[in-house]
Amino acid sequence: MPVCDVCGKEMRMEDGVILTTAQVTESPRYWGFGFSRKWPSFHEQHPDGAGIATIVAQQADQKTGWLVCETCARMFTYDRQEAKDRVREVLANPDKEYGRATDAKKVMLAALKAWQTLYPDTGAGKDEGSKAKAAGKPKSRSLLIALVVVAALAAAAYFLFGIRP
Ligand SMILES: [Zn+2]
Repeated sequence: MPVCDVCGKEMRMEDGVILTTAQVTESPRYWGFGFSRKWPSFHEQHPDGAGIATIVAQQADQKTGWLVCETCARMFTYDRQEAKDRVREVLANPDKEYGRATDAKKVMLAALKAWQTLYPDTGAGKDEGSKAKAAGKPKSRSLLIALVVVAALAAAAYFLFGIRP
């Protein structure tokens, strides 16, 4: 039985929609669900976010469409008619592909946005942030560090995508 590619629930293809890799991976809500529910030990294994570029590359690299149940579909912005048409296409041809996500920066920023919402005190700015909090100072320095980390991770994602044919 097919499963929802987001939550893993068993479902009939006819009952869901098929979204493209870009539609799924460019959504911060997908990453929020991912980091908190889909990969529950990810944060424990990568408390500083070091594994984000790798998981972004993996997820964005999928060429086939994503079967999504009606509940999970609410996380995304998409054209419903197109998404239902894809279900018919894939039922007729299971090998049908809709392409990997090509805007690495957009995917990376969606993932980082979700990460920072879930774990505002993690990442390179953590120690600076707690010190600033303790001293009652604004966290401008940790914000700057966080932006540098964002830029570095986005560059890493570009590199990971860039080495692919
Ligand atoms: Zn689902």
